[in-house]
Amino acid sequence: MCRGREDEEHSELAGDDPAAPLESRAGAGPGARDRRGEGRGLTYDLLVVGGGIQGAAVARDAALRGLRVVLLDRGDLASGTSSRSSKLIHGGIRYLETGQFRLVREALHERALLLELAPEYVRPLPFLIPHYRGEGRSRLAVRAGLALYAALAGKQRLADHRTVGSTEALALEPALRPDGLLGASLYWDAQMDDAQLCVAVAIDAERAGAALHTYTELVRLVPEGSGWRGSFRDVDTGREGEAEARSVVNAAGPWAEDVRGLARPSARAGIRRTRGTHVVLPGFTRERALLLSARRDGRVFFVLPWGDFSLVGTTDVDDGTAPERVKAHPEDIRYLLEETARVLPRHNPGQPPLRAFAGVRSLAHGSAIRPWANSREHRIVEDGSMLTLIGGKYTTHRSLAERVVDRVVRYAGIRAGVCRTRTTPLPGGRAKSIAGLEARHPGRLIAAGSLEITEAEAVYAVQAERARHLEDVLERRTRLWLRADAMRRASERVAAWMAPHLGWDHAARDREVRRVVDALDDERDRIEAALAAPRGGA
Ligand SMILES: Cc1cc2nc3c(=O)[nH]c(=O)nc-3n(C[C@H](O)[C@H](O)[C@H](O)COP(=O)(O)OP(=O)(O)OC[C@H]3O[C@@H](n4cnc5c(N)ncnc54)[C@H](O)[C@@H]3O)c2cc1C
Repeated sequence: MCRGREDEEHSELAGDDPAAPLESRAGAGPGARDRRGEGRGLTYDLLVVGGGIQGAAVARDAALRGLRVVLLDRGDLASGTSSRSSKLIHGGIRYLETGQFRLVREALHERALLLELAPEYVRPLPFLIPHYRGEGRSRLAVRAGLALYAALAGKQRLADHRTVGSTEALALEPALRPDGLLGASLYWDAQMDDAQLCVAVAIDAERAGAALHTYTELVRLVPEGSGWRGSFRDVDTGREGEAEARSVVNAAGPWAEDVRGLARPSARAGIRRTRGTHVVLPGFTRERALLLSARRDGRVFFVLPWGDFSLVGTTDVDDGTAPERVKAHPEDIRYLLEETARVLPRHNPGQPPLRAFAGVRSLAHGSAIRPWANSREHRIVEDGSMLTLIGGKYTTHRSLAERVVDRVVRYAGIRAGVCRTRTTPLPGGRAKSIAGLEARHPGRLIAAGSLEITEAEAVYAVQAERARHLEDVLERRTRLWLRADAMRRASERVAAWMAPHLGWDHAARDREVRRVVDALDDERDRIEAALAAPRGGA
């Protein structure tokens, strides 16, 4: 089922009529595995490229409808943008300023669904917008925005928004700068651990029958007969293989243009890539997230509570660098530290953050000059039975996947069941499963402050969540991502816990630790460069 307007582009590959049903043909790619057995023509109905949230959601939707699905990611699940977001499941109140009402309405609807279907991964989060004399958005504008936000959510709004005076605002969040504080607006949205949600969606796709191959890069894609032949390479072992599929969904996020280029070298899909940086600081707020306006450019940014920590971000800067080389830029780090200190004076902007990382948005290029005004609506580009996804929010991954799989089914002429993701809960019980491993794997390490990691967590990540490298566990399966020093301190011990499950000898363990430490050293250098630069110049 398709809803609303969509930007669509159609282009033809030789011999492909996008509207015509594809015929099935015999033959299986030598590297392909199909858990549903052979005998239905092509090995797979659908090849998904990319194990970020969009690829994982497409694979899950398609597998739940009964399609034979294979998903490839050249890295870990969620190792691209999907572990570097602001980790909000939200309507996106700031998108009201750019008139993206349809996106906001859909995102608010999806927020409600995710809170209901994935409660272990998505939780409501109270927000506070402080109002300062002569700064940021006016109280009136914010009140009008929140009223519209509530109206777009309809019955699915989480709680009534309200406005409080400065005394109550300071009682709620004493760290706020009292000078010039007029009051605050309060409302609700939702928060998630993006990497863990993405992994959970991918693992549920596998449970529904999809074949997942991480650290497996698609290196060649050619139309063959009525479908596609993809060649892939295991990034760790160099092993090569092939898979055939009737349709392809290119969910390679910021790499989508490169993947599309494998089949259509000269075609441009119109992607605008922008860099978004976050820093992690010691916790400043009690329980509320803050929505703040940067004084320097008026942009909205967040201070988000993560236990004893605050996640602060983000920035939005055009960046044409190859996505895998995009890192937190010293200028972005400085911007976030200085803007935070303006509202939260307890924060010393000369203090190094605990982490600094960047993600790359792949936006459907719009007419806006400023990156933060560029539309966040998705676009689906069609090349015969290959669909390329551009843009789209984390929050709307389920509804985008539903649209995409509807099209795959239609164009590839596949018989499939109805979409089930609107009613199928995402299985929980992760903590219980980990607890069940503790007797056999009793190791435990306080990595730093309140951050702890257990051997059972690491083993579970390997056995049940496809972690293949040390970085996968430290960055994307536990909370250690909040502190670089915690990751450093835990790396040798966690590598030792993982080693017997992945067949690592001493040299392999050392390589794993070195990889993590090198990345953290690079991050530390960027932070030092940010702190060394003169104040207020970005
Ligand atoms: C700074 C920032 C903050 C954000 N905050 C929010 C937020 O709070 N809420 C929200 O709703 N949205 C947010 N977003 C948007 C959201 O994070 C993204 O829309 C989403 O994560 C994109 O997911 P994806 O699956 O398309 O891309 P990715 O997660 O990047 O996945 C693409 C995958 O493709 C793989 N790949 C690439 N090439 C190949 C190949 N040749 N073979 C195999 N695999 C390949 C990559 O390894 C990668 O894992 C934010 C984005 C950014 C950048």
